Amino acid sequence: MSFKTKAKEFLDDFISLIFPNLCVCCNNNLLKGEDLICIGCLLKLPKTNYHLERDNILEKKFWGKVDIQRVSSFLHYNKHSDVQFLLSKLKYKGQKEIGVVLGKYAAADIAGSDFANSVDLIVPVPLHRNRLKQRGYNQSLCIAQGLSEVTNIPIDHNNLYRTIENPTQTNKSTYERWKNTEGIFELKNGNLFDNKHILLVDDVLTTGSTMIACIEAIKNKSNAKISVFTLASA
Ligand SMILES: [Zn+2]
Repeated sequence: MSFKTKAKEFLDDFISLIFPNLCVCCNNNLLKGEDLICIGCLLKLPKTNYHLERDNILEKKFWGKVDIQRVSSFLHYNKHSDVQFLLSKLKYKGQKEIGVVLGKYAAADIAGSDFANSVDLIVPVPLHRNRLKQRGYNQSLCIAQGLSEVTNIPIDHNNLYRTIENPTQTNKSTYERWKNTEGIFELKNGNLFDNKHILLVDDVLTTGSTMIACIEAIKNKSNAKISVFTLASA
C-alpha cells in the first residue's frame, strides 16, 4: 500500500470518528433514514440475485461434496470494489455495524423468496475463541443479527464451534485449503439441530471449504437440512 493510500485511509478513518453521520463508502453526508451507507452507494452494490436461481454457480461448488439445499450470496466480490472495502472494514477495522446493516439489506432481498421461507435457524460460521478475543466480535454473527432482525428467524451461535484455530488461508491452493479446514468444527448437541433447516452464514464465500467443514460437522451429529448464505462471493 502506498503512503498516499495509507494517508487517505488514515484520514478517512479519522474523519468518520469525528463525523459519524457520513456514508462509510463515499464519505458524503447521510440523509435522515440512511444507516451507515447512503442510498447512492447501496444502489451501486452489485447484487447476485442467486437466491432466485436454482443450481446457480455457488451451489455447484458444493455438488459431490456435501448434501446441500440452496446457496446464495448477496453481492459479487471484486478486488478494489466498494464490496471489498466494506467487508475489510467489517472484518479488520472494528466496524461490526456494517455487518448488521448489510445483513438487513440482504434479508430484505431474500425475505419471502423460497430461498428463505423454510429456514428455521440461522447459524453464523464460528470463530475460534482466541480469534474472537482478538477481534472482539464475530463478523458472521453481526451479519446473522441483521438477517434475523428482518426475517425474525432465530439465531443459534453456541452449538457449532471451532476446535482449531485456522492458520491464515492466504496463498494456499484450493486443495491445501480444503485439507486445512477438515475437521476444524464440532457440534455440541445434535438434537438441537435435528429436523431443522439451517442457514449457515458467513461474510465471503470463495472455495466453500470452510462451509463444507461446517456442514460435515453438523451432519455428523444431526439430520439437519442446510443452506448457505454469505454477504459476498468471489
Ligand atoms: Zn455513499
